[in-house]
Amino acid sequence: MKILVIEDEPGIAFSLETDLQTEGYEVTLVADGAQAVPRALAEPFDLILLDVMLPNKDGFEICRQLRHKGLKTPIILLTAKTHEAEKILGLDVGADDYMTKPFSLHELRARIRALLRRATNPLTDRGASSEANDVQRFGTCELDMTRFELRRNGNCVETTALELKLLAAFVRNRGRLLTRERLLDEVWGSGISVTDRVIDNHVVSLRKKIEDEPTVPRYLISVRGVGYRFDG
Ligand code: CA
Repeated sequence: MKILVIEDEPGIAFSLETDLQTEGYEVTLVADGAQAVPRALAEPFDLILLDVMLPNKDGFEICRQLRHKGLKTPIILLTAKTHEAEKILGLDVGADDYMTKPFSLHELRARIRALLRRATNPLTDRGASSEANDVQRFGTCELDMTRFELRRNGNCVETTALELKLLAAFVRNRGRLLTRERLLDEVWGSGISVTDRVIDNHVVSLRKKIEDEPTVPRYLISVRGVGYRFDG
């Protein structure tokens, strides 16, 4: 498996390279935004890690150009700021996933594995396009992580980027207990400090969007004193 890492901060590039090589991936590094597109198209990669802030051309533009040229390789954007993450969700740049720095390598490895599994195992494809694969259904809701939207009864529900990320984390871990610490790590990213109260408030607002009776939740279940579980 070959991974192209487009990252201009030497420290991060080096730690990604070391970590991914340890995992058995072949890693190619590019530091300059202007070289990213030709390099990504020069040979087949299985996955691309793409920093947003790069010299000469930013990650959004690179991602957009690669998709425009028909490249289907999974792309994970690496962002330094939360407002960039919000931007990824707002713009349709064609990325498959994103992580906010500082991120945990453990979480990044899990995301990489998930994307590679999806890209290489057609048996897990529920439809002809990879888009069908990114739509998760529960009840009358559809969480569409390709278009970054939540639909209910076929209608788009207004959500914030954080709510979508949070819901995606729940759906990804259906039936599994998620502690607030784990949610914090998966959704906000490690190194970000928010109180339990903030997580709880987001859960409350999500319930209003997905539950028939938000005060008697069917999907987003509270596990007292510990966290939450998504039953869907
Ligand atoms: Ca950078």
